Parts: sequence; structure tokens; C-alpha cells
Amino acid sequence: MGASVSRELIVLGTASQVPTRQRAHNGYLLRWDDQGFLFDPGEGAQRQLLLAGAAASDITRICVTHFHGDHCLGLPGIVQRLSLDRVPHEVPIHFPGSGADFLQRLRHASHFHDQARITECPVDGDGVLATGPFGTLSARRLRHPVESFGYRLAEPDGRRMLPERLAALGVRGPDVGVLQRVGTVVADGRLVSLEEVSEPRPGQVAAFVMDTGWCEAAIRLAEGADLLVIESTFLETEAELAAEAGHLTAAQAARIATEAGVRRLVLTHFSQRHPNAAVFGDEAAAHFDGEIVVAEELARIAVPPRR
Ligand SMILES: [Zn+2]
Repeated sequence: MGASVSRELIVLGTASQVPTRQRAHNGYLLRWDDQGFLFDPGEGAQRQLLLAGAAASDITRICVTHFHGDHCLGLPGIVQRLSLDRVPHEVPIHFPGSGADFLQRLRHASHFHDQARITECPVDGDGVLATGPFGTLSARRLRHPVESFGYRLAEPDGRRMLPERLAALGVRGPDVGVLQRVGTVVADGRLVSLEEVSEPRPGQVAAFVMDTGWCEAAIRLAEGADLLVIESTFLETEAELAAEAGHLTAAQAARIATEAGVRRLVLTHFSQRHPNAAVFGDEAAAHFDGEIVVAEELARIAVPPRR
């Protein structure tokens, strides 16, 4: 299966602060091969997952940017559902270390038979949080009234085999595997190197940035990202309010994407002041030349195919 098919963002909700008639509290499931990264489950995340056709067992890791309610009030339901469904795998939860008390309360909000394998992974500074077949998960501190971390998921760079070059140099069958493992193989009496029959294949990158005011960390997180999911709470007409509250305007979100060289920009976390989210996309379009997706409830947004 191609990576573009198995890597996508499922939008659970797009509302900042409070849900509205049209918008659920924000929340996102990033499907990444056999992994499922749940970001910032707001209220109702459990039901939104159901409506999106995803199961609790699809969640393999949870990342909380900060402990404002719209980013974490769905945790009790998710944690209890992991237990109820007897999800067998370990589920690490990454969260700002300064909010450890909040995490405890959310994890133990009410009576339930606690049998999920949850690992608490406080984030106390910038750096790598986890590595695995999915690549590297790292975090950087953002700028918000309460401690907030953005996340970046980066697959290591690899090499793409070129079938016509392989054929031309007579590398076939099991020799291809040998070449990939060892770096060289003898074919038709000649030493063939991996570089001769392959080209660099950049690893895919997804970044998740919210909540934050304008900051360098947001750009670093999004550097070269194929998919950037970023808060776009306000418009430029509310720039002062955005700065005070530690939020971004759609224009700022777009400029971050431009500076970082992002491919597909996903705007979300919309203020209830703007019932029609199209205005965010319109504003962003003046500041970013790449593809802009204005997130909608239950939308599935593919990680763009590899370059
Ligand atoms: Zn916040």
C-alpha cells in the first residue's frame, strides 16, 4: 500500500473554546500506517471517533498540546473507552509536564475499571519524545498563556529504487534485497552500488501546532512539513486580540507555513465569532502559495503523496 493511502488526518472537531451548533470541540486523529496519533481530544472526541469510523483501538499514542479545556476535556472518555474496549497495546500520553495534576484528574475523572496500558510521558522541554517504525516524534514549546507544546512527526529519509536502472544493470530477484541491505551487490560480474539504482526519498513529515502566538518554534516544527495542522483562531482584523490571547490569525498561520516550506496547510481551531470558516482560507491564501484546507468536522485529509 502506498504511504499516501495509509496516512491521513481525520478531523474530529474544529472549534476553539466552545463547541457550536456546527462545530465540535477540536480533536484530530492522524493515521500513520499502523499507528494512530490522537491530538488534543476536546469534549465529544469519543463520539466523533465513532462517527469518523475509527475505533479506540486505532489510537496508539496521544499528544496533548496544553491543558485548556478545548484540548483535553475529551481525555476522560477516551481513556475509559480504551479500558472498556480492552485495547491491548500500550498507549503513551505526551503532555506538558507542568500540567501533571490536570492529567491525573482527567485520567481518573470517575469510577471505571482501569485496565488500559497507558504510559504517562510528561514533556518538559524541546526535543525527541519517541522513535519507532513511524519515525521520530518531537516537541517544541510554543507561546501561549499556559505551557503549550507543538509536535512534529518525521519519517527518516530513505531511498527509492529505480526499476529501469536495476534492469539496465542486471540486478534482479534476491540481489535487490541484498543491495538494499548491504549497499552493493555483484551483478553480471560488475559491482553495483545502491546510489546507482536508487534516488533519495525524503521522509514524510507532519506537524501539529496549537495553541500559540507567533513564534520561531512553530516554524521549526513545521519545517518542510508535508502536512501542517495549525491553529487559525482569528483573522487579521482581530490581530490585537490574537496576540493578547496567544493565538494566531489565519494570515500568521499561512506565513508560518510559507516560512517553513509547508506543502499542505490545514487550518483549524476557529473562533465562534466566525461561523463561516471559509474566511480563514481566504485570508490565508494571500500569504501562502501551497494547498490550503479549511478543516471541517469528520473530514479526512491525506498526507500529500511523497515528492
Ligand atoms: Zn489554549
